[in-house]
Amino acid sequence: MSIPVFTKSFIRNVVTKVGGVYIHVPFCKKRCIYCDFYSTTSGFEWKRSYISALKREMRLRRSEIDFSRVPSLYIGGGTPSQLPSDLLIELFQTAKDNFTLSEGAEVTIEVNPDDVTPSLIDALRQTPVNRISMGVQTFRDEMLRFLNRRHTSEQALQAVQLFRDAGYGNISLDLIYGLPSQTFEAWTCDVQQLLKLSVPHLSAYALSYENGTPLYKMLQGGEVSEASDELSWRMYEYLMDETKASGYEHYEISNFAKPGMRARHNSSYWDGSPYLGLGPGAHSYDGDNVRRSNNTSLEEYVSAIADVPHQLEVLSREEQYDELIMTRLRTASGLYLRALTPEQESYCLQMAEQHLCWGNLIREGDILRLSRKGIFISNSVISDLMC
Ligand code: SF4
Repeated sequence: MSIPVFTKSFIRNVVTKVGGVYIHVPFCKKRCIYCDFYSTTSGFEWKRSYISALKREMRLRRSEIDFSRVPSLYIGGGTPSQLPSDLLIELFQTAKDNFTLSEGAEVTIEVNPDDVTPSLIDALRQTPVNRISMGVQTFRDEMLRFLNRRHTSEQALQAVQLFRDAGYGNISLDLIYGLPSQTFEAWTCDVQQLLKLSVPHLSAYALSYENGTPLYKMLQGGEVSEASDELSWRMYEYLMDETKASGYEHYEISNFAKPGMRARHNSSYWDGSPYLGLGPGAHSYDGDNVRRSNNTSLEEYVSAIADVPHQLEVLSREEQYDELIMTRLRTASGLYLRALTPEQESYCLQMAEQHLCWGNLIREGDILRLSRKGIFISNSVISDLMC
């Protein structure tokens, strides 16, 4: 159910600020067993209706952000590379008709390795895409099959090469660690294979068992077991050491970049910038105290007559403080204490005192950040600092 009473304040807050745009493409060919992102396996006709609905949403919401200078555009999903070439081109044309990318804007598209063909690349050449994000997850084929991924390890390597041959060097690859039955040695092989590719950006996430996913049911049924904390930490430590030795900056808990290659769009999520999310299930933030979530229903999205069905959440002062702690402490830049009110700063430092003593947090002037030791227990440090 939407709460339209807040819509005006949301528009007022966002309109003067520059922010990135996220477009959610809610289609997957098949579902991976660990994933809880919103997507559907519906066919071609739904894709065409989705593009029409996206056009309508862009027109309706174009007053919510300064569309004359959009610094980043991120096409995520789902699987954007599952859109046929003509619809992919139409999606970008619609974006172009509704907003202007600022000079040097970062334009990212998520792709699945097995969708990467010369014809997909030909289609992308007709768009402003200049950054590729690809979910590799692991280079072990039997694990990829277990996860219900569509691609093989070989296809991931070929996809990177195809992009490079076509002049797309700005590539980000994702891995997952702590997979069921994944040994430390298997993880080191994945990391080494990844580093061999020497792409400018890497993301690595600990597997999480999300309620409602097939993997979660397997966990409940005792068919799989979670990696121990000790193994997960060893894997993460290895990742940190090896990426550092290969010249990557560890700029966010799960993200690593060669100098100058940090993800600009994703960074805006951690630095409090506003962003506009379009498509079913997409989230928006006004950069102040209002969050908007479009409903996770393609059917509702395509049949909406006026605004897309959505939820609005107005954050209280306490929730805003918690958001600041959660997002900033994830980053190497840390939390700028002056961004807090005097009362919040004093509360934060009081809560941080023990972690500063134990060496989990470091304070340098007005900056508070996680130490290397603190990164391993980031969830508990961050939650200790929250209201
Ligand atoms: S392809 Fe991506 S969005 Fe689709 S089910 Fe797999 S992980 Fe989720």
